Amino acid sequence: MLFLFSHCLAGMRRLAETVQRLGRLFATILLLSLVAIWALFASIIYESYVAELSSAKIFVNNVDALVTLDVARNIEFYDLSLQAAAQGFLDPAIRALSPKLRQAALFDRSANASGLGSILILDQTGKLVADSHSELPRDLDVADRDYFKVLARGPSTPELFVSHPFKSRLQPDTWVIGLSRRIDNPDGSFAGIVLGTLKLSYFTHLFGSVAMPSGSTITIIHGDGTILARMPFVDIGRDMSRSPIFLQETSLGSGLLTGVSSIDQTERIFSFRQIDGLPMRLVVGVPTSHFLTVWRWRVGLMAFGFAILSCLIIGLAVTLGSELHRRTLAELRLSELAATDSLTALPNRRCFDGILENEWVRAIRDGTSAALLMVDCDFFKDYNDAYGHLQGDEGLRAVAGALRDTIQRPADLVARFGGEEFVILLPGTDLDGAWLVAETVRGAVARLAWPHVRSPFGKLTVSIGIAACLPTQTRDALSLVQAADFALYEAKEKGRNQTATGEGLDLTAFGWRAAG
Ligand code: GH3
Ligand code: MG
Ligand code: MG
Repeated sequence: MLFLFSHCLAGMRRLAETVQRLGRLFATILLLSLVAIWALFASIIYESYVAELSSAKIFVNNVDALVTLDVARNIEFYDLSLQAAAQGFLDPAIRALSPKLRQAALFDRSANASGLGSILILDQTGKLVADSHSELPRDLDVADRDYFKVLARGPSTPELFVSHPFKSRLQPDTWVIGLSRRIDNPDGSFAGIVLGTLKLSYFTHLFGSVAMPSGSTITIIHGDGTILARMPFVDIGRDMSRSPIFLQETSLGSGLLTGVSSIDQTERIFSFRQIDGLPMRLVVGVPTSHFLTVWRWRVGLMAFGFAILSCLIIGLAVTLGSELHRRTLAELRLSELAATDSLTALPNRRCFDGILENEWVRAIRDGTSAALLMVDCDFFKDYNDAYGHLQGDEGLRAVAGALRDTIQRPADLVARFGGEEFVILLPGTDLDGAWLVAETVRGAVARLAWPHVRSPFGKLTVSIGIAACLPTQTRDALSLVQAADFALYEAKEKGRNQTATGEGLDLTAFGWRAAG
């Protein structure tokens, strides 16, 4: 049955397949569009991540550069004062001055700047001999301090010696670092040292004055890994020499790196810089989370927007697709209905006409024969009269069923021609073959044994007119129908319930010879 319709619906099915192909193409385009949209999203996100990170690095680097510059400049000035004091200390003319004048000559006023401790001159035994804060040197011995011992061992170097942090003996409870230089006698022997102390509070005040994002750190660290000062505060003198970040910084000298702090396990972008020729390094760190928070918000908002856009596109596509599918199915169903006879569910006349045309053309092209059976129920008017039209419909359905069950070859077609008439198209069949089919059909109907009291046969029977030919361009398909119809007349004339070929009739008027 389905096959019968496939004759009629081939065009429609082709259309449905085209629609399906278009649907697949549409889905592919949609998928590619979504991939493109998300690739665009990923590239925007990546670009903004890179931009965010690079602006973070610029920021960290700038803070590091400025704070380092400030510290370096102050230490440089302080060192100049130390060098002047050392020079003056060796000058006999200054040594000959009164304590008050000697103090004024040795120490300039910059030695009293806030953050700086005292500038002291200590002789070769480590005893205080000149003091920037007192005309008469206070009682102080530093022979045990590292800065004294190292410089006493010599030789003299152009670099300033930077000590570890220690608590000042002159100002107890004040953490300082010592900046010292060796003083040599003219003969090169050790004359003592000049020492300037730098309060570590100088660094903490300086670091505190820089506005930084929360979680940021500024650290000044000794060349050997000892923390001199840090914002936020950690123990002074803490040893960081084994910290991976310190080791990395040491190998790089100056620069930028991202790492996890061993103090608070926070990931930061670090900028680190050596302070001009001194064994001190300034490290500025800003949490990566600070920069990425803004970025993540942006990513979240954009992802939300892109997700909504994608959902809209997918939703629209699904709606369009299902609507298209629904319509195609509906049209297919409509076409099916338009090609179906509602009473018998066989293909109807319209469907038959279309297929006959196609088969006719195909037979001309292939040079094959075509046969047609015109099947007419005998005494059917009488049947209706005897049993009523509704029962007549049942009879027609039964005959249609018998025809359908008999015609099994895929290329053959059974259709309701109209009223109580049916047609059976047999492509590639000659008259003999058609005759055999006709007889089989007639037998099948007879076997129904459908009672018909007003028929001389006592049951429903059919008469069949057959025609077969080799279709040519000069004939049209309807001539086959006409020939079968005339053959049917012959069957009727001869008494019904039989098959006829129309040989007994003169068909030449129709340009036709029944035997083809
Ligand atoms: P013949 O043997 O010469 O073919 O006689 P007949 O009575 O079958 O032929 P006729 O052309 O005189 O009558 C055909 C009848 O078929 C008339 C009509 O009422 C009946 N008929 C046609 N279509 C239908 C239908 O759909 N349902 C029913 N119940 N009857 C139908
Ligand atoms: Mg009839
Ligand atoms: Mg009839």
